[in-house]
Amino acid sequence: MRIGFIGLGNMGFPMARRLVERDHDLVAFDTNPSALQRIVALGASAASSAKEVADLAETVLASLPTPTASLDVATSDTGVVHGSCVQRYVDMSTVGSQIAVRIHQRLSQRGIATLDSPVSGGVGGAERGTLALMVSGPRAEFDRIEPVLEVLGRPHYVGNKPGCAQTMKLANNILAANVLAATAEVVVMGVKAGLDPAVMIDVLNAGSGATSASRDKFPRAILPRTFDYGFSTGLMVKDVRLYLEEAEALGVPVDLAATVARLWEATAQHQGSDSDFTAVIKPFEQAADVIVGPTNPPQ
Ligand code: NAD
Repeated sequence: MRIGFIGLGNMGFPMARRLVERDHDLVAFDTNPSALQRIVALGASAASSAKEVADLAETVLASLPTPTASLDVATSDTGVVHGSCVQRYVDMSTVGSQIAVRIHQRLSQRGIATLDSPVSGGVGGAERGTLALMVSGPRAEFDRIEPVLEVLGRPHYVGNKPGCAQTMKLANNILAANVLAATAEVVVMGVKAGLDPAVMIDVLNAGSGATSASRDKFPRAILPRTFDYGFSTGLMVKDVRLYLEEAEALGVPVDLAATVARLWEATAQHQGSDSDFTAVIKPFEQAADVIVGPTNPPQ
């Protein structure tokens, strides 16, 4: 099956590569020419716009950094909506349900089906094909492309209401944002008290305090102080803001989310939006005057 792929960044490139490696005929586009060149070198063909991708492929996938980019790629004058071949558009970006609904409304005017399929599992999951894909849209379209999605990870059908998979994704990510910030705060406290952070992480992982942060993010990117997990602080701020917008529109409590949002906004301000999101520990370290790393000796 010929597949179009738009957005070849940290997530999009490894996903596109898996599809090429499974012998899918891939036509790709990215505004960054070097990103496009990397996938062409593996056997994909290059398009010059999102519209051209949609002129050449019935199924178009996208992995884009911001809601604005997603809206632009789907609905602008050079967007998927004007493609002559596209039958279904699958946005794997995190955009929130409101943008997803707008994209669905615009594309449905041209008879193009939309599926939201935000993903969880990080760059490692994209490379290994172990992402959790949360999919909403017409069931028959989901059934048709499920084998393609299975190359990328495990698809979970969330429902047919446009945008509902985005709501699911934001629920997932606000929890991930909470536990990374909470684990950072707690480990900084322990180090200040003289605990070895590596021992702390081992013990947390053996006990009831284990989190996705202690199991994965601390060992991989914080304790070795590489801060290279592959998800930017700016993207986490985007997801947290989208969650707050969505929850506030529903009129539900946001006490924890509002507090954690302030921490992420401060991290973006002090570490930069392009910093890796594991840098969220640095403001805690600075405030406590400690460094969490492999060199902290037990006291
Ligand atoms: P990224 O910034 O690394 O990649 C985005 C890519 O899109 C870049 O190559 C950029 O050049 C391209 N792009 C931007 N605007 C474009 C346009 N108008 N047309 C074509 N290409 C365009 O971002 P990422 O980390 O790969 O994240 C992509 C999406 O996946 C985001 O919505 C993010 O929230 C979500 N996500 C990321 C992770 C992660 O760990 N990085 C995990 C889960 C979900």
